[in-house]
Amino acid sequence: STKVKSDIEIAQEATIKPIKDIAQKLDLHDEELEPYGHYKAKISLDVLKRLETKKDGKVILVTSINPTPAGEGKSTITVGLGQGFSKIGKKAMIAMREPSLGPTMGIKGGATGGGYSQVIPMEDINLHFTGDFHAITTANNTLSALIDNHIHQGNQLQIDVRRVVWKRVVDLNDRALRQVIIGLGGPIQGIPREDGFDITVASEIMAIFCLATDLQDLKKRLSRIVVAYNIHREPVTVADLGAEGALTLLLKDALKPNLVQTLEHTPALIHGGPFANIAHGCNSVIATKMAAKLADYVITEGGFGADLGAEKFLNIKARFAGIKPEAVVIVATIRALKMHGGVAKSDLTQENVEALTKGLSNLQKHIETIQAFGLPFVVAINQFVTDSKSEVDKIEKWCADNSYPVALAQVWEKGGEGGVELAKKVLDVIKKVENNFAPLYDVSSSIEDKVKTIAKTVYGAKDVEFSTKAQKQMVDFEKFGWNNLPICMAKTQYSLSDNPTLLGRPTDFTITIREFRPSIGAGFIVALTGDVMTMPGLPKVPAALKMDVNEEGKAVGLF
Ligand code: ADP
Repeated sequence: STKVKSDIEIAQEATIKPIKDIAQKLDLHDEELEPYGHYKAKISLDVLKRLETKKDGKVILVTSINPTPAGEGKSTITVGLGQGFSKIGKKAMIAMREPSLGPTMGIKGGATGGGYSQVIPMEDINLHFTGDFHAITTANNTLSALIDNHIHQGNQLQIDVRRVVWKRVVDLNDRALRQVIIGLGGPIQGIPREDGFDITVASEIMAIFCLATDLQDLKKRLSRIVVAYNIHREPVTVADLGAEGALTLLLKDALKPNLVQTLEHTPALIHGGPFANIAHGCNSVIATKMAAKLADYVITEGGFGADLGAEKFLNIKARFAGIKPEAVVIVATIRALKMHGGVAKSDLTQENVEALTKGLSNLQKHIETIQAFGLPFVVAINQFVTDSKSEVDKIEKWCADNSYPVALAQVWEKGGEGGVELAKKVLDVIKKVENNFAPLYDVSSSIEDKVKTIAKTVYGAKDVEFSTKAQKQMVDFEKFGWNNLPICMAKTQYSLSDNPTLLGRPTDFTITIREFRPSIGAGFIVALTGDVMTMPGLPKVPAALKMDVNEEGKAVGLF
C-alpha cells in the first residue's frame, strides 16, 4: 500500500549505529567520548582545547519564512542538508537544539526533523535525552529556593519581596503557573510573595548555557544574573547571594554537547534549546564551535523565521562567539506561502497559485533581511506531496526572475539524496557570492536605537512604541550600565509584526515594547513585544493525548 509512514515509524525501523562508531569517524579519542547508553554520548570539552589551532569548518545557518503552527521543516531541512553534504562526500556535521517538552506535548510534535531526514534515537531526544533540561531547570529552581531562603532567614541583602524578578521554571506548557503566590501558610512556610513560572527554554540559565564558551565563562555569566532589586532599588545578583558555584556545579556535565546520528549516520550535536520567540533561539555556542572543529561543514538552525532565530543568531550568538556564517538557507513551504496569501489553514492542501504568488511577499521580506546582514543565501523549497507542479514552478520562476538562488529540497521524502541539489547550491553561493557579514547594529548605541533598528530593518515596522514602564526601564538600565548589550526580542513567530494575525508582509505597523527584562548573565536585554508570553499554554487537543507506550515498551504517537 502507499500509506505514508509516520516519523516515529521511520525512526524505529532505521538501523542505528553504536555511537562509538560515529565518534570514530570524527577522529574523537576514546577518552573524549562519554557514552550515555549505546546511541548517545556527551563529548568532553577537552576536544576544543586539543583542536584549538585547527581551522574551523564552514557554518551554514538554516532559517525560514514566518511559519504555520505546524512548522515549515527547518529541522527537517537542517538534517536533510547535512545528509546531502555527506552524500556528495563532504565531511558534515549538524548542530541543533534539544527539543522542549512544552511543544512536544502541546502542538508542534517533535523537533528532530521528519520523514527520511531525522536525528535518532528520536524518542530519547524528544523526551528526557541526556538530562540537560533537567539540570538547567534544577539550577534555575535552586536559585529560586536560595532567594526565598535568603529572604526567610533575615534578608541581609534587603531584597524587596515585591521586586524579585527571578522566576521559577518548568519545561512544560502550563498556563496555570504563569502567576502564583508562594510562601502561604504562616511564618514557618517562608515569606509570602508573588511569583511566576516561565518555561525552561525561556530562562536566562538556558540562554547562559547556550552562550557560555567554557565552564569558567559559564560561572562568570551565572554570577552576573540579576535576581531582584533591594529596597533602595539597586540590583541584587547571584554573586551577592554567593550561589554561582552551586549553579555551575549543577550544570557541569550538561555543558558537554550531545552526539547522536541521523538516519543516514551523519553525526549531529544536539545541545541547548532556547525558544526563538521568547529567547534567543539557537543551540549552544560550544556545540557549534565543536562541530566546526570536527567537520568541514556545520549545518545549524535558528528557530522560527528569519525575523526571530536568524536575527538573534546573527546579532547575538555570532557576534559574541565570533562565528561568521558562510551562507544562509531560507526554508519556504508552499503551504505557508499560501497561508500568507490569505488561504485558511484548512484549505492549505488545495492548489492555489494566486494565493501563493501573493504570499511570496513574506519570503521576499526575509530575503531582504538576510541581504541586510550581507550574507549569501539559497531559498530551499521544502517539498510536500500535496504541492502541485504549477505551484512549484511558480516559486522557482519567481526566484529565477529575481535572481535568487533556489533549490527544491525533497529531504523529507528521500533523505540525503533529496538534499544533494540544495547542498550543491549552497556550495555554489559560498564560492561565488560575496560575503559581507556584519551584525545590524552597534551594541554601543542606545537601547531605543537598537530596538528600532531591528523593528524597522528586520520586521519592516514603521515605528516603535515604548510603554511607560519600558521608558522608565531604559532610564534605569542606563544608570546601571546595562546599555551596551544586544537586544533579544520576544515576539510572535507567526507575523513579521507583533500581532500574530497580520500575515504576509504587513506595512505601516507599529511594534509595541511592553517591558524589558535584563539578562545580564546572558549578556542581553530582552524586549517583550505585543502580548507574547514566556509560559505557553496547551492547545485544545494537546499532542500528548495521542501518545502511548506499547507492550514492548516502545513509544507510540510521538508524531
Ligand atoms: P521546523 O523546524 O520548521 O519547526 P520541522 O522540521 O520540525 O519544522 O517539521 C515540522 C513537521 O512537519 C514535522 O513533523 C515534519 O515531519 C513535518 N514535515 C517537514 N517537512 C515535511 C515535508 N516536506 N512533507 C511532509 N511533512 C513534513
